[in-house]
Amino acid sequence: MSDLDVDPVTDADRPLTDAEFIARAAEALNPQELGPGFWVADVGAAVEAEDGQLFTGACIGGYLSVCAEISALSQLVAATGPTVRRVVAVWRSPDDGVLHVIPPCGRCRAFLRTLSQQNLDATIILGPGHRTTLAELLPYPGWHAEPVDEP
Ligand SMILES: [Zn+2]
Repeated sequence: MSDLDVDPVTDADRPLTDAEFIARAAEALNPQELGPGFWVADVGAAVEAEDGQLFTGACIGGYLSVCAEISALSQLVAATGPTVRRVVAVWRSPDDGVLHVIPPCGRCRAFLRTLSQQNLDATIILGPGHRTTLAELLPYPGWHAEPVDEP
C-alpha cells in the first residue's frame, strides 16, 4: 500500500477536518420562508459527540424558536449523552450564495453549558481556521455569588 492509497478503515475512523465539519453543517440547510420573516432551515448546524458521532440539525424560526444547534443537540443527547466535542453553525447568504459560519447565540451557549460542565471545553468553530472553546464564549459560566458589605 503506497502513501497515496486511502485506507478505508483508518479514513472512516479519522475525525473530520473543520472544513469537512462545516460542509456537513451546510448539508442541513434547506431554506424555506413559511411566512413573512418566518424562515426554517436557513441555518444548519453540526455537533460532534465525545465518541465522534456527528449529528446535524436545522433551525426553525431562528432566535425566537429552535436554533439549528439545539435541533442537532437533541439528537446527540438522545443517542450519546450530554457531552459535546465540537459545534458549528452555518448560514448561506441568499444574495450571493456565500456560506458563512456563525457563532452560537447566547441561549445556545447557555444551553451547551447547562447540558454538561464538560462542554466548556467543547470546540466552537467560528470560521475556516478559526476555533475557540465554549468557555471563551461564555465567561463567568458558573454561579458567582460575591458578598456585599452593606452599610
Ligand atoms: Zn442559538
